[in-house]
Amino acid sequence: MTTTISATGRLTTVHTAARPVAALAGVVGEQRYAGLRAAAEDFRVRFAGRTIWTVSSTCTGGGVAEMLQALVGYVRDLDVDIRWLVIGANPSFFAVTKHLHHLLHGFPGRMTLGPQTAAHYEDVLAANAQELLALVHPGDIVLLHDPQTAGLAPWLTHAGVHVVWRSHIGTDLQNDATRDGWAFLRPYLQHADAYVFSRRAFVPAWLPAERTRIITPSIDPFAPKNQDLAPDTVRAVLDAAGLIEAPTRAAPAYLRRDGSTGTVECHATVVADSLPGPDEPLVVQVSRWDPLKDMAGVMRAFAEYVAPHVPGRLMLAGPALVADDPEGALVRAACVQRWRGLPPPVRGRIALASLPVDDVDENAVLVNALQRHAAVVTQKSLAEGFGLTVAEAMWKGRPVLASTVGGIPDQITEGAGVLVPDATDLASFGAALRGLLADASARQRIGAAAHERVRAAFVGDKHLLRYAELLTALLSRPPGG
Ligand code: UDP
Repeated sequence: MTTTISATGRLTTVHTAARPVAALAGVVGEQRYAGLRAAAEDFRVRFAGRTIWTVSSTCTGGGVAEMLQALVGYVRDLDVDIRWLVIGANPSFFAVTKHLHHLLHGFPGRMTLGPQTAAHYEDVLAANAQELLALVHPGDIVLLHDPQTAGLAPWLTHAGVHVVWRSHIGTDLQNDATRDGWAFLRPYLQHADAYVFSRRAFVPAWLPAERTRIITPSIDPFAPKNQDLAPDTVRAVLDAAGLIEAPTRAAPAYLRRDGSTGTVECHATVVADSLPGPDEPLVVQVSRWDPLKDMAGVMRAFAEYVAPHVPGRLMLAGPALVADDPEGALVRAACVQRWRGLPPPVRGRIALASLPVDDVDENAVLVNALQRHAAVVTQKSLAEGFGLTVAEAMWKGRPVLASTVGGIPDQITEGAGVLVPDATDLASFGAALRGLLADASARQRIGAAAHERVRAAFVGDKHLLRYAELLTALLSRPPGG
């Protein structure tokens, strides 16, 4: 396994092996590859003797961890010193940050962000900061990801470190909920030197425009999540994990990040009356069990507007458990309860899968196989920072049906997928899904355009180049300046 974890008190170091950047040339072409190499060379010279620290709240599950696993590996291969740390925190801290996450997506919750909440948030991050300060040196760069780490910013700038805060979340329209969320974070964020968002519309008005950059996320074509898998292997993986019923003689083998061959050994926990057969058209949504991913809405739309009219099955798949997602179990339980209440003929066509997360590579290859096997991939989110699952499925040539929220329309341009304007309109979502299931040539055409769209805009070289530009600009100013 490439990524190993060693606990150092509250902070955890994630050891990520170098990934050969040269492999990207075959995907993005020689010209783009040469551009990346040249930028890396320039950056290495300017940055000599310093370290980039990237700090997140988890190293498994969710888009942030997924991207860091790839990007940190590529940066290491480019000979830039980068380290990845994960903060340590307790469930009540994560309950606060999950609430902040919902607020920044425009959804109010029941929690009140009073002085006590702030004190708890600050205490947890102060403890992490003490360890971090023993590691960093003046002139280093620290990339803080999302609200979970924002409270580290004042400690770090004070220590002469350049701080970049990267928000992976946000919403186009500000309301009372977003204002509450930003008001909570503002005292910490104002210490950062630069800010990165996935969309311009997500940036709160009080952040200085000249310190803010828009950088869209990316996928890694060679990660276990996205690597090519032959159709036989896809079926073998899904069969081995208990996700479909597919007698097959192929080995469920894939390439792990360290280059060794892995075999799927884990078993998913599936709530279903029966498993889908290998040739039944499968609609798939892969998401964390989060209310804003609206797994329940996908199930309702499928049950009411799709199942009675066209053949096919639905599989909603999410992680078995993610450390910073205390709401997950509740959301999943609510979906299961709803599923139990469906009329048996419809219920028999819907499965809820929990994918084991103990082995990151194995979890990733299950997602990969599910996305590749899908006739249609949905992402019916009510809010979405970017929605990496959309780019992942598009890369695999799948037609994606998604709601027009957050970063999703930045990915699904004309002809490269299907967008439903109103995320809460189940009838329109159902009608679009029915249309796709009934039209194989449309699925093929959309899938091909989707793959090309991701190759052009969302492969890691572009992502790294934009970071190199930002960090180079940062080095020309003193920290906090
Ligand atoms: N994911 C995963 N296993 C799961 C569910 C999700 O690896 O069981 C991954 C998914 O493939 C994607 C990421 O988690 O890479 C989710 O990122 P996205 O931006 O779509 O949403 P987020 O969870 O960050 O809100």
